[in-house]
Amino acid sequence: MCVLALACAASACSTAGPSADPAEEDAFDETKLQATDDLLLDESDGRGNPPVSPSPTPEELRAALDIVEDYRPGFDHGEKGPEHQKYIMLHDTEGESAPQDVVDFWDGNGNLVAAHFVVGRDGSIVQCVPLDRIAHHAGFGDAGHNAQFGVEDESRDDKRGVVPIGDWAPDYGMNSHSVGIELVHVGGAGEYPQAQLEALDALIAYIDAYYGFESAVTDHKAWRSGNSDTSPEFAAYLNNYQTTRTHDGG
Ligand SMILES: [Zn+2]
Repeated sequence: MCVLALACAASACSTAGPSADPAEEDAFDETKLQATDDLLLDESDGRGNPPVSPSPTPEELRAALDIVEDYRPGFDHGEKGPEHQKYIMLHDTEGESAPQDVVDFWDGNGNLVAAHFVVGRDGSIVQCVPLDRIAHHAGFGDAGHNAQFGVEDESRDDKRGVVPIGDWAPDYGMNSHSVGIELVHVGGAGEYPQAQLEALDALIAYIDAYYGFESAVTDHKAWRSGNSDTSPEFAAYLNNYQTTRTHDGG
């Protein structure tokens, strides 16, 4: 898993690799230590304002989520480096099954369809496709949606298991430019638990930090009209995620 390497590439991380020259390595370390000391000693910004806490790293944000990694080869449909990332697409599973059971179901039905993450009602998260790989979670979209969303259907997606669904939905660019998140929820069945919403807040914060920029948040029905997900009861949360990156706008 190359989360660390990709995170560095996406955010222009300046972490240096090991040096073959011990003298050179010592020089680097001293410079770094001096810089760190300067930061620690600087108790304000010079204008009387308190020091700004450093942002958590992607690795710290991910560790706090305690994500279960359960990658399945059949769900991997090609390369999706950070230069291709544009959207976080939210879905409802339209079932009550726990995340691990959802992944097992997807793997067992032979459709090769999955999202990158499944978020349970208790806030637990299973990841079954790495962030640098394409997942078949969005599928076909309405005619004209490739252009509307600014995505392309190019050759990185292997399209294994893909079956056209009609002339009204010929556009297939979203999978190659997005991360899919499924929420365990049945539309119309009531509220999303607070633990699930808070887990989604933290997951989006992690994805933002991983790429080093904020991907646009959308949902499946925006891509393909007639889809149920996300549910009407999610509408206010979706609006908040699109504006403030959290379910409650906080
Ligand atoms: Zn969906």
